[in-house]
Amino acid sequence: MTETTVGKSVGRNDKCPCGSGKKYKKCCLQANKLKQEASKTSRSAADLIDKDTTAWSFYKLLRDGSAQNILNFLYDLTDEKGPFRQRFPTPESFFKGVSDSDIRAFATKGFELVRIRHDGDETLILLGKGLDNKQTQNLSFELFRLKDAGTGLRIWDVEYFEKAKSEFNTTPRFEDLNIAWSWN
Ligand SMILES: [Zn+2]
Repeated sequence: MTETTVGKSVGRNDKCPCGSGKKYKKCCLQANKLKQEASKTSRSAADLIDKDTTAWSFYKLLRDGSAQNILNFLYDLTDEKGPFRQRFPTPESFFKGVSDSDIRAFATKGFELVRIRHDGDETLILLGKGLDNKQTQNLSFELFRLKDAGTGLRIWDVEYFEKAKSEFNTTPRFEDLNIAWSWN
């Protein structure tokens, strides 16, 4: 029996190193991701977030988790009662969603913080991409809806959307994007 070790050098569209002849993404990519995630146990949201954690600190944790691709940790940031968890009830379903590109909004590389808004236990974090790029016609947004159930902020839900740049004269506000404030 041989064990195949897969590093970052294998691209999604490369032939799978297991020798099946299929593309990596159609073959062992998912299994390898799950294996890698299962071996990462170093951080949990509960250890890093308490009731005094600000939206800005939360954003930094989100960024770090995303930059290091710690999917377990990112999943841990989501609220177990929120709509995100209803769509992805287990870490494995989340990893698979990321792998299949069903999930496109997790503080991805190139997205900058645009706006933060608080009201009581609800917080919105808006990230945007393309705002400073004169070439691009489209802006991409990631919207994080956070809730605080008393133990600290968690991601209630997350959305990804795009808008034509021509719709905005300045950095968009929540109102400009028709983002409803309360989502109960
Ligand atoms: Zn394979």
